[in-house]
Amino acid sequence: MSNNQLEQLRKKVEEQNLQILQLINERAKTVQEIGRVKETQGVNRYDPVRERQMLNQIIENNNGPFEDSTILHLFKQIFKAGLELQQDDHRKALLVSRKKKSEDTVIDLRGELVGAGSPSLVFGPCSVESYEQVAAVAASVKAKGLKLLRGGAYKPRTSPYDFQGLGVEGLKILKQVADEYDLAVISEIVTPTDIETALDYIDVIQIGARNMQNFELLKAAGAVNKPVLLKRGLSATIEEFINAAEYIMSQGNGQIILCERGIRTYEKATRNTLDISAVPILKQETHLPVMVDVTHSTGRRDLLLPCAKAALAIGADGVMAEVHPDPAVALSDSAQQMDLKQFDEFYNEIQKSVFIKA
Ligand code: PEP
Ligand code: MN
Repeated sequence: MSNNQLEQLRKKVEEQNLQILQLINERAKTVQEIGRVKETQGVNRYDPVRERQMLNQIIENNNGPFEDSTILHLFKQIFKAGLELQQDDHRKALLVSRKKKSEDTVIDLRGELVGAGSPSLVFGPCSVESYEQVAAVAASVKAKGLKLLRGGAYKPRTSPYDFQGLGVEGLKILKQVADEYDLAVISEIVTPTDIETALDYIDVIQIGARNMQNFELLKAAGAVNKPVLLKRGLSATIEEFINAAEYIMSQGNGQIILCERGIRTYEKATRNTLDISAVPILKQETHLPVMVDVTHSTGRRDLLLPCAKAALAIGADGVMAEVHPDPAVALSDSAQQMDLKQFDEFYNEIQKSVFIKA
């Protein structure tokens, strides 16, 4: 074979490559159009019967030299890539997606800008127990120049015999303390019908881990004009977490803070396993601020500080931790809350972190 012939054949192969390239991309566009039609009809994207029909048709027309199995393998890859493209389009379409909105969402909580660059720190007791108890923590929060206070009035407890919270009385205490100390308060709401009531008392509606997929609660929180702190479910994947936020935003409320609070794994050394890599993933995939709850993720006082530092280092917009004036007698989570002295030490240390700007 002359060099000239070889050159010509190589040229031909290059042209064929480009033809295949053009065809698979044209096919991809058609698949995307199909995805959009299916989306409006609410039909599942993957249709195995249809795929089988297409593969049969291809094999019936295969005149070689490729074996049927090779052709099947190649087309299966093309089908798979098409399906992934449809799924990617779907993800891009989510309202919470970074691809939908590239700028960071910033949430204004009585002047504290969550997600604006400098970390927001949230402290407070696990449960609201009395005015004095909440006020003692609020005074310590205020003395540090901090703005955000937490406290549970409705407590979703594992056992029905454990302290269930003070309910509306607890919300009233939070409001009184928040007004007296000029703080913004975050408190969990567990029932859709309590969302309206909560609007008068708190600055942020917390949706707890156990309710991350309580879709009626998510929709109710999405229908009001009040920031929401959404915690990751005990065994929720990041995709499920993002979709839970989408439930809220799809109702019109875009003021959402995501909170990683540890997930259930086989590890027993900590109460839950802090999924630290969830933070940059959530920051990449969504435009929402992301916080890390170091108390419920670790369940250990000795791990609060290193985990808080890790959270800030990896890009979290804030950290939440529980503080109680006398943890030994706390009505919930007594083993893991900091007392006021430990709180001072924690705060002094975390302030040394290069991630906290003065
Ligand atoms: C809480 O923050 O009070 C709480 C109950 O946390 P979680 O829902 O993450 O368990
Ligand atoms: Mn707690």
